[in-house]
Amino acid sequence: MQIYDVIIIGSGPSGIMCSVQIKNKKVLLLEANTTLGGKIKVSGGGRCNVTNNKEIEPFLKNVVKNNKFLYSTFQNMPPQDLINFFEKNNVKLKEEDNNRIFPEENTSQAIINYFIGEIHKSNNINFKTDYLVESIIHENNQFIINDQYKATEVVFATGGITYPHLSQKDIGHRLLGDLGHKTTDLVPAESPLISNDSIITDRTFQGITLIDSQIEVFINQKKKYKFDGNNVLFTHFGITGPLALKSSHHIKEALNNQKKVKVRVIPGEHIPKKMQDIFNETGYIDINIVDIKGFNTAFLTNGGIKVKEVENKTFKSKIQDNLYIIGEVLDINAYTGGFNIALCLSEGYTCGQYINTSIPTE
Ligand SMILES: Cc1cc2nc3c(=O)[nH]c(=O)nc-3n(C[C@H](O)[C@H](O)[C@H](O)COP(=O)(O)OP(=O)(O)OC[C@H]3O[C@@H](n4cnc5c(N)ncnc54)[C@H](O)[C@@H]3O)c2cc1C
Repeated sequence: MQIYDVIIIGSGPSGIMCSVQIKNKKVLLLEANTTLGGKIKVSGGGRCNVTNNKEIEPFLKNVVKNNKFLYSTFQNMPPQDLINFFEKNNVKLKEEDNNRIFPEENTSQAIINYFIGEIHKSNNINFKTDYLVESIIHENNQFIINDQYKATEVVFATGGITYPHLSQKDIGHRLLGDLGHKTTDLVPAESPLISNDSIITDRTFQGITLIDSQIEVFINQKKKYKFDGNNVLFTHFGITGPLALKSSHHIKEALNNQKKVKVRVIPGEHIPKKMQDIFNETGYIDINIVDIKGFNTAFLTNGGIKVKEVENKTFKSKIQDNLYIIGEVLDINAYTGGFNIALCLSEGYTCGQYINTSIPTE
């Protein structure tokens, strides 16, 4: 049995940030994929939209679920400090539209390489890739993982369940269940919208993008949400693009509650020729939505470990001593735009700094 002070399960933004914050304990980072970094690699179309350059309050308005839980971690590592954190560590960043921040090199690898470099420089962090954690038990104040590793403290950073080739289904949620935690329903979020209306199924407008447009979401005929200032793309199954993704969280919730959903698409100044007739009459089109795309396509999992079971200043479990839970495995989610990775990094930072000085409960 190999013994560590801390074992971190999952090397996405939350787990890998947590690992490099721990300086004076022996750490093992376990990852089921063949490379470190979790979904950082595929994020932002391979460019990693790593954060959003907003103050804390407007930033938190973009966290659609359980945003109050994040106040403490954002006091500790606000979005702007995260930008300084990377700049200070020679990862040059740049700002694009809607305050979105990307690596200047235009590749997610710039972020992953920074973390891998830190791990290699450290003399207290080991990692193992291609290693799936399938069992965890807590015995005599020690966690035993797969009957192979022991640690006094364990961090779950196992992520959500979207993009199945990069996730490990809900193993993380289930192992946390074995340790006494509860998971809310897991549903896809930040995903394209599906419609059976003829305007979609006849594919006339497939491939067309409406630049700088608006979407209004009607639930049971009442206008409930409005998103603007970005593109709407028509596909063979429905609509996608940043505004469709943003609305998907609310739409899925309404559909799950048996409500009828319609989106009103209002174009920006430039209307492609092919669509001019259809917009001439009313200035908008209404599209009935029947579902959103599932976990294979969704960027995010809505649902996770209940936040009331976790301390928000430390990410320590309130159910099991010496256990920590960070990242998308928690029941927190935000719109696309760099908010999700940033909140995972902030949580990993806060949790790692706390573990650095924590005295495990006997
Ligand atoms: C296509 C796509 C694009 C995205 N783009 C952006 C973007 O640009 N900006 C943004 O803010 N957000 C983006 N997101 C969301 C963002 O990537 C995630 O919210 C974020 O990566 C979650 O971080 P995490 O650390 O919680 O988990 P993850 O990044 O999911 O990492 C969890 C890791 O844990 C490992 N793991 C799980 N269970 C086990 C186990 N039992 N044993 C061993 N290892 C295990 C997994 O293999 C995985 O590598 C995107 C998501 C997708 C799918």
